Amino acid sequence: MATTFRNHIGGEWLGPSTRRYFENRNPADTGDLIGRFPDSGAVDIDRAARAATKAFERWRLVPAPARGDLLRRLGDLLSANKEALASGMSREMGKVLAETRGDVQEGIDTAYYAASEGRRLFGRTVPSELRAKWAMSWRRPIGVAGLVTPFNFPLAIPTWKMFPALVCGNTVVLKPSEDVPHTAHRLVELALEAGFPPGVVNLVHGRGATAGRALVEHPGATVISFTGSVATGSIVGEACGRLHKRCSLELGGKNAMIVLDDADLELALEGLVWGAFGTTGQRCTATSRLLLHRRVHDRFLARLRDRVQRLRIGDGRGPRTEMGPLIHEAARDKVERYVAIGRAEGAQLVTGGRRPRGRQWSSGWFYEPTVFSGVAPDSRLATEEIFGPVLSVIPVGSLEEAIRINNAVPYGLSSSIYTRDVRSAFRALEALDNGITYVNAPTIGAEAHLPFGGVKHTGNGRREGGWTVYEFYSEVKVGYVDYSGALQRAQIDNYQ
Ligand code: NAD
Repeated sequence: MATTFRNHIGGEWLGPSTRRYFENRNPADTGDLIGRFPDSGAVDIDRAARAATKAFERWRLVPAPARGDLLRRLGDLLSANKEALASGMSREMGKVLAETRGDVQEGIDTAYYAASEGRRLFGRTVPSELRAKWAMSWRRPIGVAGLVTPFNFPLAIPTWKMFPALVCGNTVVLKPSEDVPHTAHRLVELALEAGFPPGVVNLVHGRGATAGRALVEHPGATVISFTGSVATGSIVGEACGRLHKRCSLELGGKNAMIVLDDADLELALEGLVWGAFGTTGQRCTATSRLLLHRRVHDRFLARLRDRVQRLRIGDGRGPRTEMGPLIHEAARDKVERYVAIGRAEGAQLVTGGRRPRGRQWSSGWFYEPTVFSGVAPDSRLATEEIFGPVLSVIPVGSLEEAIRINNAVPYGLSSSIYTRDVRSAFRALEALDNGITYVNAPTIGAEAHLPFGGVKHTGNGRREGGWTVYEFYSEVKVGYVDYSGALQRAQIDNYQ
């Protein structure tokens, strides 16, 4: 009998007002039922937002270093539970253990960073233009943060949002992806163990169009942080604009790796396989385009095909598995649709392009790692996010051509270049229109203490991670103290 899970609202574990539940199954073995989770509605969101609003009045008064201490304790608990969290995450989401351990580690790093930020949250003291007058700024919490997260980083992404929001003095309502609710459940259990007071951390499970939408539109959730697809991000951004909410959108990508003719090809090959097929291509930063210099094209492609054909597919928890399944049937259907589109557009299938054969694959959402060559830079295959293990190889004749092709898509998350020439490396850093560029490393691999996000349709100018996210979760307040004992008029008395 599968466990039935509940929401966490105002310090209590509660069933959904709808009395409906959805199933959470292992994508590598759909016969493995992980649990039943609340299919919550607007009433549950309303309860959670009210509980968070009530808790905010006390939480905002807790000194930031003390809020940070709770995050440090939570970081310790994540650390102590790392292996179990990683294994549960592989079961629920499908990616391999090395990656789910990395996902937990990112949460740990984010916890310790946020804990230390509790002793900074810098304001500024600046000279006033008038005598005997003090001028300063500091940060204030905003209120209730509504957090809506995707499936591909079940722990890391909720922590990127939740921890900075909490240390800044906000309370939170988390609506995690319905594809990975169990990891979010464990995160909230550990937050409670760390000692967060009732109502500060609330969890409401449910689907996007119901619970997600209700959270985004709830008047009590004044800050909304969303990570997911561009299509959903547009709906969320529109609602936030209409409702005057502060909003952060972290959306999709179509990331390119450039391999020039002077590159270390072995290094580039290892980076490419990791960037394109890690997380089964389901990373916002996954390498989905390879811009390959014509002079090394055929040599490199032959080695790439051999390497990709040797990738071991399987259950993410298997010790030898290099690539797990897709998250669900719809994700695999989408990959199959794009493979058909690629063929119709005239791209050449180098390897993959089908489900793996054999009975052992029939109970999961597996798909072979797939490479197309001769892909037209403006084709659908090369410009639309597939979010699966499909790589498009595009031949280029120069760095400048690669830069043009890289920049000609609506997305702008990450990019990478392999070269031994320092001039090419810096030219790429300057000219590639992305939020992140890697030199001699794949398009994936962001670190928690640096800002993360992209340009163009990948977002709305906000960044997660690093120091910048603390600005998103706080309001700047300015104070002036005039101790001259006289009326002093700014812009006037010193400038007569
Ligand atoms: P998704 O957009 O389908 O869902 C994301 C979340 O939004 C889920 O919790 C879902 O329930 C919720 N949702 C759906 N409809 C909603 C609505 N109308 N109102 C409010 N919430 C709603 O995305 P996904 O399939 O879970 O994740 C994959 C996408 O996320 C990819 O496009 C990927 O590039 C992107 N992503 C971006 C980043 C980044 O930082 N830029 C990181 C990870 C993933």
